Amino acid sequence: MTPVSADIDSYLEDASGYRGWADRVVRPGTVEEVGEIVRGCAQSQTSLTIAGAGTGLTGARVPHGGVLLSLERFQEIRVDKGQAWCGTGALLKDLQKAAAQTKQFFGPNPTEDSASIGGIISTNAGGARSFHYGAVRRHVLALEVTFMTGETITVRRGEPVNFPFRPIRVPETSKNSAGYFLRPGAEWVDLLAGSEGTLGIITHAEMQLYDEPAALLSGVIFFASDEETLDAIEQWREIPELRLLEFLDEHSLDFMRGNYPAIPAAARAALMIEQNLASDEDSEVDAWAERLEQQNAFGEASWFGLRAADHERFREFRHTLSASVTDKVRRRGFHKFSSDFAVPFRYHRELYRHYKRRCEEVLPGQYTIFGHAGDANNHVNFLPASKEQSQLSEELLNEFAPFVVSLGGTVAAEHGIGKVKTDLLKVMYSADEIEAMKDVKRRLDPEWLLGRGTIFDL
Ligand SMILES: Cc1cc2nc3c(=O)[nH]c(=O)nc-3n(C[C@H](O)[C@H](O)[C@H](O)COP(=O)(O)OP(=O)(O)OC[C@H]3O[C@@H](n4cnc5c(N)ncnc54)[C@H](O)[C@@H]3O)c2cc1C
Repeated sequence: MTPVSADIDSYLEDASGYRGWADRVVRPGTVEEVGEIVRGCAQSQTSLTIAGAGTGLTGARVPHGGVLLSLERFQEIRVDKGQAWCGTGALLKDLQKAAAQTKQFFGPNPTEDSASIGGIISTNAGGARSFHYGAVRRHVLALEVTFMTGETITVRRGEPVNFPFRPIRVPETSKNSAGYFLRPGAEWVDLLAGSEGTLGIITHAEMQLYDEPAALLSGVIFFASDEETLDAIEQWREIPELRLLEFLDEHSLDFMRGNYPAIPAAARAALMIEQNLASDEDSEVDAWAERLEQQNAFGEASWFGLRAADHERFREFRHTLSASVTDKVRRRGFHKFSSDFAVPFRYHRELYRHYKRRCEEVLPGQYTIFGHAGDANNHVNFLPASKEQSQLSEELLNEFAPFVVSLGGTVAAEHGIGKVKTDLLKVMYSADEIEAMKDVKRRLDPEWLLGRGTIFDL
């Protein structure tokens, strides 16, 4: 069967709003067809860009000409005890659903569950639960990958990269999606995860699953000030089996008030939590009342739940915030302007105060700060209403990057570098370190055909 050509337009952008162009879109259904396409591109020296579900926020899957290869027909999901074998076009929500049928779940949970398995691996996505479980890379057990030579191999966890490379510095953060994973003794799965579709086409993946906890407590806890919220983050971070610790600033709450009138009027910040429990009767349930009092949080007005419907309601609340902020900026005709910086946790407060001060000075009220506080990875999302404000947003992001790096942080904690943040890679790594990454790229894709313009400038 020959690979199917599809309408091009819907593949020419991602959720960031970044737009590109392509000569052709192909949607192979088998690994053999992927090999055929790759060999054809190599022969004609045509560039090839790999598309997942297009929820990326950096333009990584957006083609700069040539062939766009979508994995959407790779939909298989086969769940076993402790793992699932997935076609990389399957969606995260489908994996979660299939895993739930066997009372298991996939640890990390990037907020956008319509992302594809290939996409979350290739960006080393994080999300709310990576605070406890780590980012996606850690949960990849095996990968089937086709390189630009047309060769297809399956690599399993434990298999080291079998060619020499120069290691690069690693930021002191709990997650990082900026550039290749080049640590001494790096394994193949670790190198391919986070490589943003620039080293090979991942067609299938074995993903690690965990048994569902006996019970789960989730909640949205409100505070009268952001400083009290920051105190609580520091106090609560070490609570056993706390698997999610998300922060929302006052502008995020204001953004949501229209649709969520239950947000207390006096609330100026909030934390969202999830904790694995041994049972519904777990003493942890009562411990939260005490914790709220100690940290001066709103008691009665905060939201807690033990039922699946409660957990879904709170996740929907958090997802709606991300999705509607992105939507608002795009409806105003601008690209999404958001930071994806993270710092070592000891600098969490310092970075937050810095963001707040500069945002209020430059774009008062025209931004939200929310995100993965447990990983010191809050996103600053700008809401520009004019060309001038969009310019200021971009300048602020560029200003934040060197400050973050000076604190030992990363310029891309979970979204990757893509095409819109290639300048930031140079803020984080030396020319020599970038050259070390390019050596690996040249080794696996000598003609530089795959994912042109992603991670590295053309
Ligand atoms: C509302 C919203 C909330 C979000 N929240 C989070 C969050 O909490 N955490 C987080 O980490 N991200 C988040 N994201 C970003 C996004 O969901 C992730 O980056 C996701 O991993 C992208 O997956 P995708 O399938 O859409 O990939 P795409 O955008 O299609 O592609 C992303 C990259 O992966 C590569 N790729 C895709 N499939 C393959 C493959 N099979 N083989 C090789 N390369 C491949 C592409 O070439 C590209 O470089 C959010 C996005 C939105 C819109």
